Amino acid sequence: MAVALVFSSVGAAVATARESGDELLVRYQPGTTASERRSIERTHGLDRVRGTPTKRGPSDVVVARGRSMATVRRLLADEPAVVAVALNHERELADDGADISTEPGFKHLWGLHNTGQKISGPSAQTGVADMDIDGREALTLGIGSPDVIVAVIDDGVDFSHPDLAARAWVNPGEAGELATNGIDDDGNGYIDDVHGWDFCNDVAAVHEAGMDGHGTHVAGTIAASLDGKGIVGVAPGIRIMALKFIDDSGQCGRDDMAVAAIDYAASFGVPIINASWGGPQPSAVLDAAIAESGALFVAAAGNWSLDLDQPGGPRFYPASSTLPNVLTVGAIDQTGKRASFSNFGTKSVDIAAPGTNILSTYPAMSGCLSPCYVWSAGTSMAAPHVSGVAALAGSASPALLADPVKLRSRLLATGSALAGTRWSVTGRLVNAYRAVDTAPPVAQAPDRFAVKVGALVGSGSVPVQVSWRAASDDRSPIASYAVKRLGGSGTVTITKSTTARKVSTTMSFGNEYRIRLTAADAPGNVSPVRDSAAVIAKLHAEGSTLARYSAGWRTVSASSALGGKTRISSTKGAKVTITFTGRSFALVAPKGPTRGAIDIYVDGVKQPRVNLSATSTKSRRVVFSTSWTSRGKHVITLVVATGRRVDIDGFVIVR
Ligand code: CA
Ligand code: CA
Repeated sequence: MAVALVFSSVGAAVATARESGDELLVRYQPGTTASERRSIERTHGLDRVRGTPTKRGPSDVVVARGRSMATVRRLLADEPAVVAVALNHERELADDGADISTEPGFKHLWGLHNTGQKISGPSAQTGVADMDIDGREALTLGIGSPDVIVAVIDDGVDFSHPDLAARAWVNPGEAGELATNGIDDDGNGYIDDVHGWDFCNDVAAVHEAGMDGHGTHVAGTIAASLDGKGIVGVAPGIRIMALKFIDDSGQCGRDDMAVAAIDYAASFGVPIINASWGGPQPSAVLDAAIAESGALFVAAAGNWSLDLDQPGGPRFYPASSTLPNVLTVGAIDQTGKRASFSNFGTKSVDIAAPGTNILSTYPAMSGCLSPCYVWSAGTSMAAPHVSGVAALAGSASPALLADPVKLRSRLLATGSALAGTRWSVTGRLVNAYRAVDTAPPVAQAPDRFAVKVGALVGSGSVPVQVSWRAASDDRSPIASYAVKRLGGSGTVTITKSTTARKVSTTMSFGNEYRIRLTAADAPGNVSPVRDSAAVIAKLHAEGSTLARYSAGWRTVSASSALGGKTRISSTKGAKVTITFTGRSFALVAPKGPTRGAIDIYVDGVKQPRVNLSATSTKSRRVVFSTSWTSRGKHVITLVVATGRRVDIDGFVIVR
C-alpha cells in the first residue's frame, strides 16, 4: 500500500542539570570544622569525595553507597550542623548558546511556550497563554541525552541544516572515513549507512536537494539544536536517525520500505520512532515489525477531521493499531482546541500535542535560503512534539527506554488535563515538564506554633502562626504548600496553595490540633502528607501555679482583664518566673498611656525590651511571643523594667 505523509499545509537563562553519579553535596553550618564534618560523615557511612576549605558555608561532596538520597537526608536530618543535602547536579553555563530565550525563533514556538502570542503562520491566530507542553520549563531540567536516539521514519532529513547538523545520529560502525569507503563496514547489509538509510532509493544519503521538507521539519521539532540560532526542538540534546522511505516520486512510501526502516531502527536498539504518516489499510506485517521493534512508536492520528472510533468507519494506520507500544497523537491549535484537520476518537487517539502554526527546520530551496525555516500544520507536527517529550523523559529516566509500554504510560499519565482534548483517550495535552519530573517533593512537618504578637486574646481562642522548614525536591523548584488543620471542630483547609512557609490559624484553648502539610513542585507533583505533632494551646491566668512572683506584685480587679483580674507592679526589678513544658509561650497584658516596660529572659537569654506604653488602652494583648521547634522545658523571667506599672494578665502556652 502507498501511504501519505500527514502534512496539511506548508506555509531565563537555562541551566541544565544532570545527575553526577550518586554524588551528594552536604552543606554545613558556618564554622563547622573539617574534622567535625569528617566525624559526621563517618558516623553515617558516607564516603568523602572532596570538600571546600571555606569557613562561611563549608560543604563536602560525599557518596552514599547503596543508599538513596532520601535515606541520607533522613539520617542527616538530626545533625544540627547539616544545613542541606542535595544531589550534586552538573550544571552548564547559561551562556548565549544555552539560553532558549536567545533562540531567535523561540518566540514563535508556541508549542513549547505559549505566551498568548499571535502567530502569523499559515493560519494567523492569537494563542492562549500556557497552552503548551511546558517545553521551556522542561529544558531547565535537561536538554536530553546524546545517547537517546529518535528514528524519524519519514521522507529524508537535511542534516546540512545548521540547526540539525549536530543532531545527526552517527552509526559507530560506519563513522569517519568508513562513511564513504563503499564498504558495509558493520556488516548490517547497508553500505555507508552513517546517519540512517534511504529505503526508497536504497542509498545511504538521507537527503536529496530540493526534497525532504517533511522529515526535516519533523526532525527540527524533535531536536533542533540549542545554539542561539534559529529554533530549538523539544529535546535539543538528543540525536536523530533518519530513515527515509518516501519521497516526491510517488514510487515509494510502500509498507516494505517502512518495515525495513522499522527493522533497521530496531537493529540499533532505537527506543523511540516517530511516524508522521499513515494510510487507511491495516497491515499485519507492519504491526509485526512495530511489535518486534521494542520501541515506542509515536504515530500521527491523521488529518481527515474524522472520528476514528466510528463502527465500520475509517481508520488510519499505523495510528489505529492497537499495539501497546503505539502512541497516537492528535493536534490542538494555539487556543487548546482540536485543530480542525485532526482526526480524533476517545478510543483511538491517545493524547494531544501542538499541531498548527509550527515553525521548524526545512531544506533550503528556492524562496527559502539557508538556513530555512517553514511553518507547517498537521498531526505530523504534533507527533514529533510527543517524540521529543519521550526522548526527554527517557534521558532523565533511562529505564523507560527499555520498556516502550512504560514510556508510553509515563507520557499519557503526565499529560495536562485539558477540556479541549476530550476527543482523545486521555483528554490530555502532552507535558514535557511533568513527563521528566514525576518525583514528588519531600515536605517537612510544621514545627513552629507562634502566638501572634498584637493579637487580642479572648477567653476561648488565640491566633497562632504555624510555620515549617522548606520542602526539598531533586529536580524542580517547590511551587506551593497546601495546609489543613485537623482536630477541634473537624478538618479545616487553611490554604490550598501558598508560597509562604507559614499560615495563621485560630486555635481554641484546650483542643488538640495537628497541622497537615503537603508541598507541590513546579511540575505539580505533590509530596506525601506530613502532620505536625499534636498541639494544645492553653490559657493560664496570672495566678497560675506555673508562675512564681517576687515581692512587689499585687492582684487587682479589672473588668477588661482576662478572668476579671490582673496582677500588677510598679516596682522596678519586681520579677515573675514562669516554668513550663511546651513549644510556645506568649505573654498577655494590657498596653496603655500609663504602662511601663518589661525585660524578658527566655531560658536566661535576655530578649529585646517590651514596651507596654501606648496612646490608648488596649487590653488582653499578646505583647511577647516565643516558640521552639519541639516541646521542651523552658523558663521565662519577666522583670519590671521601669518605675511604671506593668500588668501580667495571663499567658498562653502551646504544648
Ligand atoms: Ca553498514
Ligand atoms: Ca537553534
